[in-house]
Order: sequence, then structure tokens, then C-alpha cells
Amino acid sequence: MKRELAEAARDLSAYIKALDENLAELPHPGVKVRPVSAPAAPAAERPLPVPATTMNKQPPADMDSLALRVKKCRKCQLGHARLNAVFGVGSYNAKVVFVGEGPGFQEDHKGEPFVGRSGQLLDKILETVLGLKRSDVYIANIVKCHPMKNPETPEAHGNDRPPTPEEISACRPYLDEQLRAIKPACIVTLGSVATKVLLGIDKGISLVRGHWYDYPVELFGPGHPIKVLPTYHPAALLRNSNLKRDTWEDMKMLKSFLETGKIS
Ligand code: SF4
Repeated sequence: MKRELAEAARDLSAYIKALDENLAELPHPGVKVRPVSAPAAPAAERPLPVPATTMNKQPPADMDSLALRVKKCRKCQLGHARLNAVFGVGSYNAKVVFVGEGPGFQEDHKGEPFVGRSGQLLDKILETVLGLKRSDVYIANIVKCHPMKNPETPEAHGNDRPPTPEEISACRPYLDEQLRAIKPACIVTLGSVATKVLLGIDKGISLVRGHWYDYPVELFGPGHPIKVLPTYHPAALLRNSNLKRDTWEDMKMLKSFLETGKIS
């Protein structure tokens, strides 16, 4: 037992050191760290949308054609201001899908989710705790276009805002289609907004994380829920390094589930 505890402590300190080194290496673009997913989101304070889809009897969408539909989508106002739709990235055979709130400045410019400092930190966490690369998992957001405070200025920094319930409702079916096509064993929700939207639990992330839940939408029929593990958004770790230990514990739970198929 003592030996196991010593090993766990060694792993944790190696992980924290790796993240600290990573943070030191990350480029500072000359602007303040952008709160990609500020927990104090107006969307979280407003009524949450009901799950967008129930059991869909159609065959799962082809991901490439779905990506094309998203690229052309103008179902909500975000589609008119975005520079790029941000569909998702990673393996279509992934066992785990990481879901954030929505694209920010960097993501809008590159058309890829979780780039910039919080994306680099997510990559580092995947590598150090799970031994995985970004291409081994799948990463997506609840909404696929950049929610901006001022849609007239997509080139401005500090222009991010959380998505509204209407925008979430409009975009949510795309995420469920992605999940139906990938058929992952589990989802990791990153941050309060993604967690509240996907699980419908109206509590802060610090109270919800560290536990497994069942995804409330029956994508694969009754009795086959996708497991959901909420954790902090990497941007929250950039703001508060005290959250690293909890995140490490969450990722160890995920690693155990991916390796054994069992919830510990
Ligand atoms: S956020 Fe989603 S629903 Fe709205 S325009 Fe973009 S892809 Fe369409």
C-alpha cells in the first residue's frame, strides 16, 4: 500500500512538473490569456436547453458529409460572423470524445478546436497522463462557430462570449451526430458549460467532476448509455494551477476506464 501511494505521488508530481514546464514553454501572443470557457457564463445562468435529439433511427451520418454541412451551416447567427466553422478533430474510431463549449479566437482562425494555450495544455495532459496523442481521441465543441460579443470584429481579441441557449439548441444535433458516428465509450466534458449542457446538471464543475454519469440522450438505444466524465476546462488550469491535482485524478479515472472498460 505504501509503495502504491509513493508511486501515485511520484506520478502526480511528474505530471504537475510536466504541465508547469509546458506552461513555461507556451508562447504568449502578447495578449492576456483568453478565458476560452469562462465558468461565469451567462449561458449557464439561463435555462439550459433540453437534449436536442432522442434516439435517431437513421444510420449515423458520414462524418465528412456532416463536416461539409457544418461548414455551410447558417442555422444560427454565429454562422454569419465566424471566420471558420470548427467541426472537430481526431480519430473517428476514438474511444473517448472531449467536448468543450465553443471555438474562440484562435480556433475561429484555424478552424480547429482547442488550439492556442489551452489546446496545448490539453495535448500535454493527454500525453502525460493517458499516453495519447490528439489524433488518438476526438475533440469537439458544443457549438461549431465562434460566439463573439461583437460579430462585426472577428479579428479582435477579447471578443469571446459563451453561446446562448438558442445557439446551443441550434448546433447540438451536430454533436450528437458526431457521437453516433464515432460511437465512443465515453465523453469527457471540459468545463461547466459543456457539462451543464450535456448532462443537464445545474451545478458548478467543482461539485460535478470526479464522478461518472450516463449521457442522458439515448444515441444507441435503451441500456447503452455513453459514460460521461466532467472535468475542468484547460483554460481554468491556466488561470488556477491548484486545479491540476483534481484534473490529474479525473484523467486517472479516464485512463482506468479506457484500459479496463470498468468504472473505478
Ligand atoms: S453554431 Fe452550429 S448551428 Fe450555428 S451556424 Fe454554426 S454550425 Fe450552424
